[in-house]
Amino acid sequence: MTSYKPFPEPIYVTRPLLPPLEEFTERLKDIWDSQMLTNLLGTQHTALESQLQAKLRVPYVSLFNNGTIALIVACQSLRLSGEVITTPFTFAATPHVLTWNNIKPIFCDIDPETLTIDVNKIESLITPQTTAIMGVHVYGTPCEVEKIQELAHLYGLRVIYDAAHAFGVNINGRGIGTYGDISMFSFHATKLFHTAEGGCLTYQDEHIQKRVMYLKNFGFKSEEEVMMPGINGKMNEIQAALGVVVLRYVEAERQKRKLLTRVYRHSLKGVPGITFVTKKRHSVRANYTYAIIRVDKKQFGISRDELHEKLKEYNVITRKYFYPLCSNYACYNQLPSARRHNLPVANQVAREVLSLPLYGQLTSKDIEKISAIIKKLKKRASQN
Ligand SMILES: *Cc1c(COP(=O)(O)O)cnc(C)c1O
Repeated sequence: MTSYKPFPEPIYVTRPLLPPLEEFTERLKDIWDSQMLTNLLGTQHTALESQLQAKLRVPYVSLFNNGTIALIVACQSLRLSGEVITTPFTFAATPHVLTWNNIKPIFCDIDPETLTIDVNKIESLITPQTTAIMGVHVYGTPCEVEKIQELAHLYGLRVIYDAAHAFGVNINGRGIGTYGDISMFSFHATKLFHTAEGGCLTYQDEHIQKRVMYLKNFGFKSEEEVMMPGINGKMNEIQAALGVVVLRYVEAERQKRKLLTRVYRHSLKGVPGITFVTKKRHSVRANYTYAIIRVDKKQFGISRDELHEKLKEYNVITRKYFYPLCSNYACYNQLPSARRHNLPVANQVAREVLSLPLYGQLTSKDIEKISAIIKKLKKRASQN
């Protein structure tokens, strides 16, 4: 029998991957010995950069103190200006980065299946001011990378990907970070791989490598030569050391989440009004970072918002991820492209998605219990 009693402790939507502390302190000791806490050629920095090149299957990796600064630098390094076409169904950082570069975000609706930018709607948004397309691999689901590249070639646009969710995702064995001109991965504590705070850019072009290096280090070429107005985007040795240790455990974490994802899908199969948003695609190596459902109020009986609230009573903490839509933020909702009737799919999806607890420390039993509670709430809703 499944117990419907609330969990004794809150089950959060995620927990950071914490490797054995000794492995981290061992590397901290090396840092103390070196007396080098931050340096682009530091031992930890160099080690993490080369390990990530292999893991992400990309020719160039440049580490950053966080993903948002990395994305700001990506726009700077391509000299983007004017307008950039992007998705409203993303984290606040995506449009904010454009604004910080004095670029106007142009919101494009999303595909109802993949929830990434709808490639069929990009073309009508291109104007003489458009300089790039910024796609987001939402929940690790790749954008339509080939079609976006075709459009970019046709109109002479750059392509940047916010790959914050897509660590370790490959398409037919090819690293997701090799698509477009530049991709950004976030290493925030809540991401699958993390350095507490951190991130990186990946790209293929050695000229971009040079500009990124300058831009993330105040524009310095040497002690006495400043090439361009850069910023401080550097990752420090302590972050990099944590990354080296966390990286050892990422694949095991992914496997655990893969298993738990299977339990969720099995336990919630056939529940009217509940669907999982990520579809399996043979060409894609998924990372199983999130368990995201959509709640159809008509079929399920209660809305996503009500389910979110009710689950709290059982100590199950879910997140409305992403809600609200970026285009509905007070700072963007006056933009013509932000009008609701231009973004029907994104507005509906944002009302229906719910991120369920998923992290390696959870057990199959926990997932079964969460699923049973959801089913019980459905039953109760049907009786009303
Ligand atoms: C986490 C995240 C970011 C921001 O990354 P930080 O490393 O926290 O600055 C950007 N975009 C998306 C989609 C994210 O999920």
